[in-house]
Amino acid sequence: MNKLIVGNWKMNGGLADNAALLGALLRGWPDRAAADVAVCAPMPYLAQLQQLLQGTPLAWGAQDASAHPHGAYTGETSAAMLRDFACRYALVGHSERRRYHGESDDTVATKAQRVLAAGITPIVCVGETLAEREAGRTELVVKRQLASVIHTVGHCTSEIVVAYEPVWAIGTGQTATPAQAQAVHAVLRAQLQAATAHADRIRILYGGSMNPANAAELLCQPDIDGGLIGGASLKSDEFLSIIASCPVHG
Ligand code: PEP
Repeated sequence: MNKLIVGNWKMNGGLADNAALLGALLRGWPDRAAADVAVCAPMPYLAQLQQLLQGTPLAWGAQDASAHPHGAYTGETSAAMLRDFACRYALVGHSERRRYHGESDDTVATKAQRVLAAGITPIVCVGETLAEREAGRTELVVKRQLASVIHTVGHCTSEIVVAYEPVWAIGTGQTATPAQAQAVHAVLRAQLQAATAHADRIRILYGGSMNPANAAELLCQPDIDGGLIGGASLKSDEFLSIIASCPVHG
């Protein structure tokens, strides 16, 4: 199974900057990319991504989806709307959504379900805060977050992607060590194996200050199936270098 590398642009970009970044990525695309790659852009740019990326090796996705199917939810974007723009992926439960928008485990699970029902792959983000890690609660927290999604999506669990993102490593420049990340990924893998006979097709990404200097070591861990990249996905040379770090038979 190829590694999966996903860029999360967060609330960055603009029509001109996006076109320049995507153009640079496509011009620099490796001849033999050993990874599946996608970028998750702010909602208003999904049409631009669809226009510029159709027929290229670069897939695209959204950073969120509504927990509601349609109706009086001002400012929200439904999973069906994301499908209109041919999104392959949608992040759900990013720690910035949990933290700044009060998203609970239940809300995240419902979002994952809506996204799956629209034929889009949810990238379910889980991760502990620094206080939770220091209190020895990492395993408990990530298992609780993932359990909620498994419980809600049931037999569709094998269709999700999981991203382990320790909150203390996101945007801080402080990366989990390969051993720390692998240990949590192994816990998540075991949880998925207990939930579905098809756990081997679920990719578990690591996210949190991944960059060209640390990517190769993280990506060669046995249970790290790819990366979710914030800051470094906004710089074409860094993102391409992370893509190139993927082991060919990963
Ligand atoms: C993220 O936003 O999901 C992320 C991992 O950000 P960064 O790579 O900047 O830490």
